[in-house]
Amino acid sequence: MSIIKVGDLEVEVVKKDIKNIHLGVYPPIGRVRLSAPASSDDEKIRLFIVSKIPWIRKNQRKFKDKERLTHPNFTSRESHYISGRRYLLEVDVNGMNKNQVTLAKNKIKLNIKEPYTSEKRREIFESWLRRNLRYRIEPILSKWEKLMSLHCSEWKIKKMKTKWGSCNEEAKRLWFNLELMKVDDSCLEYVIVHELAHLKHKHHNKHFFNTLSTFIPDWEHRKNILNQTLLVY
Ligand SMILES: [Zn+2]
Repeated sequence: MSIIKVGDLEVEVVKKDIKNIHLGVYPPIGRVRLSAPASSDDEKIRLFIVSKIPWIRKNQRKFKDKERLTHPNFTSRESHYISGRRYLLEVDVNGMNKNQVTLAKNKIKLNIKEPYTSEKRREIFESWLRRNLRYRIEPILSKWEKLMSLHCSEWKIKKMKTKWGSCNEEAKRLWFNLELMKVDDSCLEYVIVHELAHLKHKHHNKHFFNTLSTFIPDWEHRKNILNQTLLVY
């Protein structure tokens, strides 16, 4: 393997017994690899790379966006999803309102006393998320408790790695993932009804899905949208 440099772009080049040039951009950071027929000379390969630069950059950007969504630093110009909409984060260390988060049009403004560490910015951001999610869940949950004649004894918001929600049937306790702040109300409603249904049916059996379909006929559609949402943090 050799490296061919075009400007600041580094491409790993492997020559082998193939007919055509293959070019690929790979996660997580957008590494570029090219395989070429054994006989091709470096100048020809370089010209090929130059002709593909816009395509390479486009694909590298995709990985970078995904990387920033899954590992946010809470710095300016980062994308964050709130209620199914994309917002750009704007960190302001000079504003009047300290340690506060506000939504304005397509921006989330994070006003902080000093730049802090990314951990501190995350803490401020997440306590805002938590408060807001609580406001969103409350009315939807109480509406569906009445409609389904099912009641939980308590509910909490938690960070969970693999689930949107969970239900402890014995204690009648529901947990909701903090990440639900990202999704819109129709998906949030599906998770709430799903967990409430577990108060009646512990397992994902026929009866459970019948209950779900009775109250949320399009639950599968909502579930698909949820599945496309990244579970991160
Ligand atoms: Zn379930």
